Amino acid sequence: AHLLAYNRSLMEMTFAIIKPDAVRARHTGRIIERIEEAGFTIRAMQLRHLTVKEAEGFYAVHKERPFFASLTTFMSTGPCILMALESEDAIKKWRGLMGATDPAKADAGTLRKEFGASIENNATHGSDAPDTAAFELGYFFPGIQFAR
Ligand code: ATP
Ligand code: MG
Repeated sequence: AHLLAYNRSLMEMTFAIIKPDAVRARHTGRIIERIEEAGFTIRAMQLRHLTVKEAEGFYAVHKERPFFASLTTFMSTGPCILMALESEDAIKKWRGLMGATDPAKADAGTLRKEFGASIENNATHGSDAPDTAAFELGYFFPGIQFAR
């Protein structure tokens, strides 16, 4: 019982998106396969076509960046897959599996290297810290009881 409680305490949840470019290219199944092979547990998942307003709210931290308008337009070009992923050290682990923001700079074997086309059309999103994970999970899954 003590060991179980200890392991549970290391668990963390992150927020992930399979972006519209990857859904459009029919890479959803292969990306989810990689997520499960890596040991994440999917606690929530939704296929959803974001409005520009929803994308703008989600990426509000980037609103002064030169690519903000292009990014939020891209994110609403088609449905994406929204997910809550759980594992030990989930935030860092999911960013490692995704690879660098720019697919051209991403390591071999990462999702962005394999499925990303450009720095903007880079297949996946992942929270970068506990506070952004909490904001992003709450933004898209408000009031949800995560499945166990
Ligand atoms: P994400 O937040 O999507 O997980 P990230 O943390 O690796 O990616 P950020 O710097 O937070 O990258 O940028 C958010 C998103 O904005 C990127 O994933 C990408 O789609 C887009 N983006 C980032 N830099 C550029 C750029 N220079 N030109 C166009 N789009 C960009
Ligand atoms: Mg980011």
